Amino acid sequence: MAISLRDTKSVDHYARALQYLPGGVNSPVRAMRSIDRTPLFVDRAEGAELVDVDGNRFVDYVCSWGPLIHGHAHPEILAAVQAAAVKGTTFGAPTVGEVDLAEEVGRRVPSVEMLRMTSSGTEAAMSAIRLARAATGREKLLKFAGAYHGHLDGLLAEAGSGLATAGLPASPGVPQGATAQTIIVPWNDGEAVVRATEEHEFAAVLAEPYPANMGLTPPHEGFLELLRDRATQNGALLVFDEVISGFRVARGGAQELTGVLPDITVMGKVIGGGLPAAAYGGSRELLQRIAPAGDVYQAGTLSGNPLAVAAGLQTLRMLDDGAYLKLRSTTDRLAAGLREAAGDRPVQVQSTCGLVTVFFSEEPVTDYESAKACDLAAHAAWCRELLARGIYPPPSQFEAWFPSLAHTPEHLDRTLEAAAAAFAEVL
Ligand code: PMP
Repeated sequence: MAISLRDTKSVDHYARALQYLPGGVNSPVRAMRSIDRTPLFVDRAEGAELVDVDGNRFVDYVCSWGPLIHGHAHPEILAAVQAAAVKGTTFGAPTVGEVDLAEEVGRRVPSVEMLRMTSSGTEAAMSAIRLARAATGREKLLKFAGAYHGHLDGLLAEAGSGLATAGLPASPGVPQGATAQTIIVPWNDGEAVVRATEEHEFAAVLAEPYPANMGLTPPHEGFLELLRDRATQNGALLVFDEVISGFRVARGGAQELTGVLPDITVMGKVIGGGLPAAAYGGSRELLQRIAPAGDVYQAGTLSGNPLAVAAGLQTLRMLDDGAYLKLRSTTDRLAAGLREAAGDRPVQVQSTCGLVTVFFSEEPVTDYESAKACDLAAHAAWCRELLARGIYPPPSQFEAWFPSLAHTPEHLDRTLEAAAAAFAEVL
């Protein structure tokens, strides 16, 4: 059922975009350079389907990279945003919705009693680190290779996502001093964690508990428990970056799924329901250090924006136990179908509720090194074949697919048929 991908309008818009936006985009991975094609400009989307400016229709597995767990333009989320918008878009003064959202998050996320909202995950991660450094009086950070926590200076070292895609170990413009305090160890390598925590005194041990920025590489059994123990023994705070896993892999994120509780949780994406919102939270005692309750300064003009809060609150309210059962079964069906479509080709399909990565690898992918060893050219060709067949995958090996509650069995059938044809084409 291959469609011919007409992209004349996208190509024109891209040419114009290149004049005014670096690389033609406002965030690197959108440019589709890692699969060696020009980006498709989006006109609109509804549910699980995306329509580009040339009128091509795709089953979307990017879903804005995570926020859209209910799919695009969900009527109840749109209604919540519209109702908020007519009352005014921002006030720079407190609103009731912010308290409602914080209370709702506290009910879901086991380790969060109190939170502070920001506008992006980057800001939330940056502020969480400031809090951890203030609380411990230390500066060093332990971070995992291939993990991405936003583009803050101190963590732009062996970061995944767009950086892995571009093959950059770090970025020019980041002062040496900024990453000098960041110690990087391989994910799922318990010995390396033990060694690092014996050698250094850390302010924070930072982890994506279900890393998805080098593709989805779940923690080995006992690994998160080890992080918890070593952080406590070290005197460091354990920071879980649940920007992707939060409200996705389970109602209360990876910490609910695994029972391993961090000291600070970084949240984003789903919490804003498709509008710009993120947050960091933890115990009341710890969060009381943040200004104006405490002495650790952090602020934001649009933090807790009423439109984003309305979208986030409505998104969370629709995420009941039934929603997670459904998302899990959609994900399982997708992952099993992709495995079947791949047949005996050298492909690993790794998944957890709401996240799937198809690694072009003979062996399971467990860390950044094994992710980088994948057949990136074959993966890129497979993505181009999928696009030509009306399926829109994350255009990089170092990302996860985001199945949503709007993906129906019919969408999955289309996806798996296209995936099988695409595999046959490239491997
Ligand atoms: N942490 C993780 C785990 C992420 O995946 C991302 C973004 N993909 C961020 C932090 C940064 O969030 P933002 O893009 O909203 O700054």
